[in-house]
Amino acid sequence: MKEFTFLQKELDTMREQGTFQELPKIESYQGPIVRMKGRDIIQLSSNNYLGLTSHPRLKKAAVDAAEQFGAGTGSVRTIAGTFTMHDELEKKLAAFKKTEAALVFQSGFTANQGILSSILTKDDIVISDELNHASIIDGIRLTKAGRKVYEHANMEDLEKILKKSMSYRNRLIVTDGVFSMDGDIAPLPDIVRLAEQYDAFVMVDDAHASGVLGENGRGTVHHFGLDGKVHIQVGTLSKAIGVLGGYAAGSKVLIDYLKHKGRPFLFSTSHPPAVTAACIEAVNVLLEEPALIKRLWDNTAYFKKGLENIGLPLIQSETPITPILIGDEAETCRFSATLFELGVFAQAIVFPTVPKGKACIRTIMTAEHTKQDLDKALDIIETGARKSGLL
Ligand SMILES: *Cc1c(COP(=O)(O)O)cnc(C)c1O
Repeated sequence: MKEFTFLQKELDTMREQGTFQELPKIESYQGPIVRMKGRDIIQLSSNNYLGLTSHPRLKKAAVDAAEQFGAGTGSVRTIAGTFTMHDELEKKLAAFKKTEAALVFQSGFTANQGILSSILTKDDIVISDELNHASIIDGIRLTKAGRKVYEHANMEDLEKILKKSMSYRNRLIVTDGVFSMDGDIAPLPDIVRLAEQYDAFVMVDDAHASGVLGENGRGTVHHFGLDGKVHIQVGTLSKAIGVLGGYAAGSKVLIDYLKHKGRPFLFSTSHPPAVTAACIEAVNVLLEEPALIKRLWDNTAYFKKGLENIGLPLIQSETPITPILIGDEAETCRFSATLFELGVFAQAIVFPTVPKGKACIRTIMTAEHTKQDLDKALDIIETGARKSGLL
């Protein structure tokens, strides 16, 4: 049989460069301390901001729904796979995001693909921040629309492109709300102002902001007081919400259109009852237990201060994502391995996730970490940095 020698060659090169990584395996639930390779390790790499993956209310909702409604739904939504609980979740999400309607997709990734690929034609142009998430980039690739990329968060560059693209039928500006690798917040008030000035639509992907920013974790749009001024809000149910899925929130027209044209929605089976019920309960928890979000931000402030005191170069971030900039890919992987040996799991983020030469160790805070966990993690990071010659 023919062999994949061309793939093997590329993998061998990655091994030589020290960037080939085995998937890290977790042997426990996803918590602030996880069991890996038989040891208890402090987890600094999950997106489980509020600890909802194992929240008792979510677990109970999932178990009850599986008992009553079964393990799967047996169909796509448009044929026979829409359960009343799917509608209930969408009503909850729309109210949460203060929009008319919402539509759930299988993941945040497919939400972006489904939205961008369905609403844009060759007569339109999409204008995208250069650091937007891969799922936005792939969504854009699926359209025949014109496309322009503006320098990260650079409003002058965005305005230049808006001015030059007035011949298109529609202009859609798309941005991450919180940038997933660097943890900075998009300058949304300026983006909305430019969009109004140049008659453009705005789409915000709040994967890392929902459950984190704004009152009750409603996201960046609410955080900036821009309710009703952003045309499409994308959220994920997989990060702070703690389960799985993605959604679009916006006007009824948009959502009705996506129900008829959004391909991942049309051609992929709906969420199982356990997942759907757990997501509903997660929104309830966000509304009823604001102390979780407060703890997340208290921990974030404490941990950032600790990292600054250690003196490693940090990427400027305003959110619970704090990347430690190392630069060299192999050195970053080695530092991550050293941290693991000492008891901290903080994943190396290398090319193509971030540009070459900007490799970093990305840390993410959660509400579940105790002060003791954080002190220990900071201690380990300092010791590991000295051992690795970074300090
Ligand atoms: C993680 C992420 C996604 C994908 O969400 P999933 O639900 O994990 O598929 C989309 N957009 C951004 C900005 C993200 O950070």
